[in-house]
Amino acid sequence: METQDTNNNKVRARKRICILGSTGSIGTQALEVIEAHQDLFEAYVLTANRQADLLIRQARQFQPACVVIADESRYEYVREALKDEPIQVYAGADALCQVVQMEPVDVVLTALVGFAGLRPTLSAIQAGKPIALANKETLVVAGELVTRQCVEHRVPILPVDSEHSAIFQSLMGEQSPIEKIILTASGGPFRTFTEEQLRDVTPAMALKHPNWDMGAKITIDSATMMNKGFEVIEARWLFDVEPERIQVVVHPQSIIHSAVQFEDGAVKAQLGMPDMRVPIQLALSYPERLKSDFPRIDWWDMASLTFERPDMQKFRCLGMAYEAIRLGGNAACIVNAANEVVNLAFRQGECRFLQMAEVIEQTLNRVPHAQALDLEGYMACDAEARRVAREAVNKLKVSR
Ligand code: NDP
Repeated sequence: METQDTNNNKVRARKRICILGSTGSIGTQALEVIEAHQDLFEAYVLTANRQADLLIRQARQFQPACVVIADESRYEYVREALKDEPIQVYAGADALCQVVQMEPVDVVLTALVGFAGLRPTLSAIQAGKPIALANKETLVVAGELVTRQCVEHRVPILPVDSEHSAIFQSLMGEQSPIEKIILTASGGPFRTFTEEQLRDVTPAMALKHPNWDMGAKITIDSATMMNKGFEVIEARWLFDVEPERIQVVVHPQSIIHSAVQFEDGAVKAQLGMPDMRVPIQLALSYPERLKSDFPRIDWWDMASLTFERPDMQKFRCLGMAYEAIRLGGNAACIVNAANEVVNLAFRQGECRFLQMAEVIEQTLNRVPHAQALDLEGYMACDAEARRVAREAVNKLKVSR
């Protein structure tokens, strides 16, 4: 995109970015990228759920056209704090669906967490906005609907998840079919734990990821390997590859971010230090690569890169994700909703580590299955699955 300055020189217009979830781990790293490339990017919309003070600070610094605080009870506080700034303040979930459609927005970065990402992402797609997608739950819940709408509205999805960015980068310049996707997994903090040890895992232990510093929900999902299961589903939709051709390989060093194998046996991978700013920046700058001072691999000092088979017996959530794809329809939506309930319940001390998989499995068995849902169908399914999962967690509390 080029415009002309006052001296008739060609200058590139800055990309105006709407960040859904600017106060989170991905959101704040995206703002670092924007700050480092102020000539190229502009934070046009910032949104948060409850962290009003951080949102206010970000708004003062980045001067977006508007901000949204999803939690309506904090609207007055944010509005009052920003009353001297030329920044519109909105509140509520519906406002998220509206701001993504604002005419000047060039890219929507979906960096909010959970099912809450689905509606605004669909709204952005309907307005023809390119999506830089971090919110994997959107594709887990409604991959068929989302990818269909992307085709209808000719909207590209640029993956932010490091594995999917690696696959995307391995596919750059390729027209040949994919034989297999190699989706790497760190294995999380409990890769070497026995089942006995897993029983006693506490939230504090699970919230410490060996390689990545992420939001609380995805950190727990990484510890159970539900996150890797979700990434299999995400890859299935992003790259239109059947799950049998997506192989999860445990690679504890998180240097190879994922790879693609082609039909001649050649494998292309993307490597780098574990740093989410790399895929975030590429999703915003694509098709260009921008300079960065992010840490580089030190090849002479790097010990070894190792690979293992994932233990599906120990990490049942990974197997459940494959089962959800096989079942199709609303199965992954049920798994996602149950997972959101148990993930929070575990963090709040309401269930034990291994009970998370049990509750998700029970919920998947109890909620009626359905095929080809629309948005309302997914919302109803999500609500029902949460109710059933919540009931199961409450029973655990009683029987303890
Ligand atoms: P965080 O929990 O750190 O941040 C979540 C963001 O979403 C915050 O801005 C939060 O606001 C906002 N938010 C939470 N709930 C709602 C809601 N109901 N409505 C509107 N906004 C909401 O999450 P992460 O940044 O870790 O993850 C974001 C997404 O990116 C997830 O889908 C995750 O799976 C994915 N991802 C994350 C990676 C990472 O390294 N962190 C890596 C790959 C993918 P507030 O701060 O006010 O609560």
